[in-house]
Amino acid sequence: MSKPVVPHDQAARQFIADEARTDWHDQTLWFVRQKRDKAAHTLPEWESLRDLASGIKDYALANLSTLLTNFERQATANGITVHWATDAAEHNRIVLDLIQQHSPSARPKVVKSKSMLTEECHLNEFLTEQGVDLVDTDLGERIVQLRQESPSHIVLPAIHLRKSDVSDTFHQHLGTEAGNHDPQYLTEAARTHLRERFMAAQIAITGVNFAVAETGGFVVCTNEGNADLGAHLADVHIACMGIEKVIPQQEHLGVFLRLLTRSATGQPITTYSSHFRRPAPGKVMHLVLVDNGRSTQLGRTHFRNSLKCIRCGACFNTCPVYRRSGGHSYHNAVAGPIGSILAPNLDMRKNADLPFASTLCGSCSNVCPVKIDIHDQLWHWRQTLTAEGLAPLPKTLSMKLMGWVLAHPLVYRVAGRAGRRLMRYWPGAVSNQLNPWYKGREMPQPPAQSFGDWYNQTRRRL
Ligand code: SF4
Repeated sequence: MSKPVVPHDQAARQFIADEARTDWHDQTLWFVRQKRDKAAHTLPEWESLRDLASGIKDYALANLSTLLTNFERQATANGITVHWATDAAEHNRIVLDLIQQHSPSARPKVVKSKSMLTEECHLNEFLTEQGVDLVDTDLGERIVQLRQESPSHIVLPAIHLRKSDVSDTFHQHLGTEAGNHDPQYLTEAARTHLRERFMAAQIAITGVNFAVAETGGFVVCTNEGNADLGAHLADVHIACMGIEKVIPQQEHLGVFLRLLTRSATGQPITTYSSHFRRPAPGKVMHLVLVDNGRSTQLGRTHFRNSLKCIRCGACFNTCPVYRRSGGHSYHNAVAGPIGSILAPNLDMRKNADLPFASTLCGSCSNVCPVKIDIHDQLWHWRQTLTAEGLAPLPKTLSMKLMGWVLAHPLVYRVAGRAGRRLMRYWPGAVSNQLNPWYKGREMPQPPAQSFGDWYNQTRRRL
């Protein structure tokens, strides 16, 4: 059963109630953002790479059906079995059927490396309900899985947790020493635990970062080597891929691999960029191509660019709202600025609050390695949602009123004068708990006169 959705502002309020954690979360992500800047500045051709990546993605989106058909043909010729899923439910059903087909045991053992697509499809919950013993092998993902939480960041899934939280979780589930927060000790405990799971797994599920239409091969990027280990130890490899991940040619990989990890964590290259082309002798490889709303997004003129996303997380790390509200406040598998564009496409009503969870400062667009116009798209979503009657009612009414005031200069001047007087002689009329803007902020001192009055006076004196 799906959990009730807590609107972003309420969930954010819960997150910032822990002030120390909010500060630490904010500073940690800003540190990652600064590492990204340093890494970007080491490449004089950085901006050209971004332009090139954006152009390649433009081409890929404009020729998506051709590239996907070519990719399927090449992958099939290489010995990979390709499946197509229209939505999350079909994706989950295909994966379950494959697991049952290849592992007839009552409780099949499966390992999975990080894949935001499977998070989007809620594959973990579905397979677990069906009796599959599924273990996430990315360390951060394993931590949140043990805590029955979802990842709060697409690259750093457990960034909302402290060492002490991890220590408590491992003590409860893996039997580590209570109160031992030493990262080395905790990592070694996780490694021992995960090694057993790797050795026992019959099937490995991975995501896909890039699929090459020219060759039918695909690339999975991890820093822990867990996708490699899982896929090479298990007899069956199931790779799950959103249809927007296809790129035309092998030579384009170099552009994206240089941008991806520099943008994500400031590393020059991902520790493991694993290239899969065909199953090893005696083994089986399946690939599930998933639409789940992507074709609809492709048809939305203002939002199709969001499909260029390579899931680096740079827009999360720079976003002042994400940094201080935490990933879980976005109630969507992909949080942050890009998640706020993708989520309304999947369910406009449920996710209508997310495009408003932004200052529209544009920092996200500035860092995006594929030059997605993120803040413009958020602004367009606000207009679309308002036109659909899905924007918050108080905001819609207040904007209508403001529009009317701004359209009538006399009303604007009178309202400004009345507002300044009110704030001067009766500040409690606006500085009260009924005013959401006032909560957590100081009201400014009202100026003695409006800019218009000042300008007219000054001009007369000149
Ligand atoms: S929108 Fe751009 S910056 Fe954000 S995750 Fe995607 S590629 Fe990275």
